[in-house]
Amino acid sequence: MVQIMISGVRGTRDIVLDEIEQWQRLERVVREICHRYGYHEIRTPIIEREELFSKGSGESTDIVQKEMYVFEDKGGEKITLRPEATPSMVRALVEHSLEQELPTAKIYSLGPMFRYERPQKGRYRQFHQLDVEAFGIESAALDAEVIEMAVQIVNGLGIKDIDLVINSVGCSACRPDFTKALLNELGSRVSELCGDCQRRSKTNPLRIFDCKVHNDQSVIDTLPHTIDHLCSSCRTHFSEVREILDRFKLDYKVSHRLVRGLDYYMRTTFEILGNSIGAQDALLGGGRYDGLVKVLGGPDRAGIGFAAGLERLVMAMPDESRETLLTDAYVVAIGDKARMPAQILTRDLRHAGLSAVVDLEAKSPRAQMKRADRTNASHVVILGEDELEQDLVSVKRMDTGEQETILRADIINYLRRE
Ligand code: AMP
Repeated sequence: MVQIMISGVRGTRDIVLDEIEQWQRLERVVREICHRYGYHEIRTPIIEREELFSKGSGESTDIVQKEMYVFEDKGGEKITLRPEATPSMVRALVEHSLEQELPTAKIYSLGPMFRYERPQKGRYRQFHQLDVEAFGIESAALDAEVIEMAVQIVNGLGIKDIDLVINSVGCSACRPDFTKALLNELGSRVSELCGDCQRRSKTNPLRIFDCKVHNDQSVIDTLPHTIDHLCSSCRTHFSEVREILDRFKLDYKVSHRLVRGLDYYMRTTFEILGNSIGAQDALLGGGRYDGLVKVLGGPDRAGIGFAAGLERLVMAMPDESRETLLTDAYVVAIGDKARMPAQILTRDLRHAGLSAVVDLEAKSPRAQMKRADRTNASHVVILGEDELEQDLVSVKRMDTGEQETILRADIINYLRRE
């Protein structure tokens, strides 16, 4: 038989060893904060019909044009691995009439997304997002609440050095005028821009602001800004959002460059950047998308939300936020007769809600003690033949080395007290 080592797929990663503890803490904090803000968890499938994204994210977006994993399944259905969560969340909202089922239509989800991008630090082909969405409220009060919650999640994870950036990209009433002004200003200089921007100038000129190509920047810097071309209702909406953020005492910057890559955004857009994690510094981003529910076959409902990249949040979390999962007891059996009682005792500890490990390979007491050290156990519970006869156990605290012998019947309460 030929032996070969098969490595993981490029752009994917295993989350192993200490890092898993960061992820578990992150997920706990996120769920708790979502609950505090009245959000209800939902879980949607990883595979969806391809058209959900070509319609929902937008046919001309980079995601749909270049990054989706699409395949035909054995029944001839065109399927994709989801590249983002919002269209799935909206689909589920409509399909299950969640607006009627929930007291307020606020939902969140955690899970993997897939994009065929060029992998680098902080950018992967399979990555994970927290996705938060709220529906049915057009008021700027909701924009501010959602932005404040996003900051709270980042703060709750102990991430310090961040920038909150906001913008307004207008609505279907003011966008055409802005696009006209932008194309006018651009004029013949469009030929100086990169191929992607030339394509964007035809399909979605606003997205020229997303361009990162160095040579394009001098032209892009001269282009008009959306916030100078808002209609009066978009202008009022944006100033109300800012007023509430000010009252919340949140630090933010307005950036005219923040337009975000998806078709459905309107009015408020926002991002939180992490300054400690390198070039791929967007921790989360989102915005308002009032037309999307209708586009995806639902009622005409407002919507706003954001997606946070969990890999990037983990990268930005401080090391001291690592929590080590302690094992309550490592049960050591001395002598063959003690083996089965040790296994039964371990079972009893586990049933009582304690974490316990026992040697199942008949190793020597010395080897078992060594393992106990490596297991990060707070206590070693020793069961020798003497203890067995008298219904006793010895317990050793690993931090102080103190050891005492107690009644076997008392061990659960003893460890619980500890
Ligand atoms: P987007 O859905 O593109 O607005 O992205 C929302 C957030 O997801 C970003 O701010 C990143 O934190 C994260 N993200 C997006 N694409 C990737 C990727 N390829 N790898 C890792 N994180 C990503």
